[in-house]
Amino acid sequence: MANEYEIAVFNGDGIGPEIMKPTVSILEQLAAQSDTYSFDFKYADAGALHYANTGESLPEESLEIAKRADAILLSAMGLPSVRYDDGTEISPQIELRKILNLFAGVRPVRIAPGQSSPLNLNPEQAIDFVLIRESTEGLFYSQGKGEVSEHSASETLMITKKTSEDLFEFAFSLAKQRKELGQGKGKVTCVDKANVFRAFAFFRDIFDKESVRHAAIESDHAYVDATALWMVTKPWDFDVLVTENMFGDILSDLGAGIMGGLGLAPSADIGKDAAVFQPCHGSAPDIAGKNIANPFAMILSAAMMLEWLGIKHNDIAMVDDAKRLRDAVDRVVVSGKGTTGDLGGNANTTEAGQAVMEML
Ligand code: NAD
Repeated sequence: MANEYEIAVFNGDGIGPEIMKPTVSILEQLAAQSDTYSFDFKYADAGALHYANTGESLPEESLEIAKRADAILLSAMGLPSVRYDDGTEISPQIELRKILNLFAGVRPVRIAPGQSSPLNLNPEQAIDFVLIRESTEGLFYSQGKGEVSEHSASETLMITKKTSEDLFEFAFSLAKQRKELGQGKGKVTCVDKANVFRAFAFFRDIFDKESVRHAAIESDHAYVDATALWMVTKPWDFDVLVTENMFGDILSDLGAGIMGGLGLAPSADIGKDAAVFQPCHGSAPDIAGKNIANPFAMILSAAMMLEWLGIKHNDIAMVDDAKRLRDAVDRVVVSGKGTTGDLGGNANTTEAGQAVMEML
């Protein structure tokens, strides 16, 4: 008897619904072929368009669907043309991270052998590391709290011991899991700016204490500026990187850049019990409604969801399906057939989704 998992689906804004459609179809196909799992998709409204129509960005019933679900799939939200009175954008994805305490923003950076990348790698070379961006505090803690006067503006960063301990515990567990799955060498690097800021010396100190509890995993430190350089010059040296919210926000786009663009960059925001899976990119209003957006970051985020659910519920077949799905996307990307315009191909969103399904 297969286990049924309830999945909250936020279609979001702009290209959101277009990239969600093939993703849900692929998950339905995988579930239809599985003896161990099935899905019940529950659609939930939220986002900029919903706010423009109703005055609510994240309605209570949508939040309830998210809280009840076994996992949450979310495509991009926000539209630059829709804003609150203070000038900031509608961003329920950030609210969800705070409400559900999703402190670990997991951003895999993978380049399959033969995949084109601005790094001009040797065709045999594979890149596979994970950036973990703390997602509930850091500089983003100041969101909505910044002070602006005529002559100055200030925003205050917050780093707490409790969240940092949870974050580092998560990072070491992920490194262990990656090592066991043959994906990583078993190393965690704390990325900070401890040479200048006391808050980052505090962050590093908590990391060092946590590392003692995980002696089987190697640990080291790197400054954020040097990390940006090494992500371009020797990305194969990394395994798991863990960092503050704002640093992670910037480095994850650099990660997307070396992979060949935002259209290939998946992510997960994970807490103790709940998790949201969504692409790194935004709602791309410039290409919305044309069926030309790249759905691969959304599909790869769904693969992360399968892996997370499979590990959590001890369903090895589901973890295997996550790997099959990732491999199918890799093969489509390397072949160049079935890729969208941002990757140099001429497929539309629907055809790109079908190419992955056929590869599966
Ligand atoms: P964006 O990621 O939406 O777009 C940046 C560029 O990348 C655009 O040229 C876009 O066309 C392209 N792009 C993005 N995703 C693509 C895809 N799947 N396929 C092909 N091309 C793609 O960033 P932006 O323009 O800065 O933001 C647009 C809106 O999205 C804003 O309202 C912003 O607040 C929001 N946003 C949301 C999230 C999120 O939901 N997590 C993240 C970032 C931005």
